[in-house]
Amino acid sequence: MKTLGLLGGMSAESTTSYYQMLNRLVRERLGGMHSASLILWSIDFAPMAQLQAAGKWEEAGDQLAEAARRLEAAGAKAILICANTMHLVAPQVQAAIGVPVIHIADATAVAIKAAGCSRPLLLATAFTMEKPFYRDRLAEQGVRASIPSDADRARLHAIIYDELVQGVVSEASKAEVLAMIARADCDSVIFGCTEIGLLLSPSDIAHPVVDTALVHARAGVDFMLG
Ligand code: GLU
Repeated sequence: MKTLGLLGGMSAESTTSYYQMLNRLVRERLGGMHSASLILWSIDFAPMAQLQAAGKWEEAGDQLAEAARRLEAAGAKAILICANTMHLVAPQVQAAIGVPVIHIADATAVAIKAAGCSRPLLLATAFTMEKPFYRDRLAEQGVRASIPSDADRARLHAIIYDELVQGVVSEASKAEVLAMIARADCDSVIFGCTEIGLLLSPSDIAHPVVDTALVHARAGVDFMLG
């Protein structure tokens, strides 16, 4: 089994899910007492969130690139950035290392198409919904994601940063996000923030759902065992 390097802590809430999913997926594939061979670099998210809010993406990318270099030096054969938003700096991280960064949007595009869909609603941070890095990468693969209205995007961003990354899961916020989905014209839904799976379940939603954390973990396991 090849060892994966995880850039985590973005947030710690979803990194916990990644750790559980990666181990469960390896056990499902190999059986018995098998588990995932992993190295985790978990950051303090508060200063990283400040860099995001200040638009200091290059500085944020430098920090993740340095962490990725250390994961590679420690033996990681590929890197997962365990968040959608920080894929904004994936090219900077990739340029710093000699092993692949497994891109979360690529795993997402494959899963949307496998579900027979092409017009998903992207639920994510404002950065992921509004900046081109994510939707362009999906579009290159034939997936045309739409995003909620201005007001809904602002509210969803607040739910992610003020609640989910801080471990707060609220029924009222869940109802608000389900209402956003009901207002959208789409054929599928992307949980495009790795914490959204903590708030919503695919069974809450009539459309096919792609949870980016899950499909990213699956892509990581394919690499490890492939
Ligand atoms: N984990 C989140 C994501 O998937 C949001 C936190 C962050 O900005 O990294 O985008």
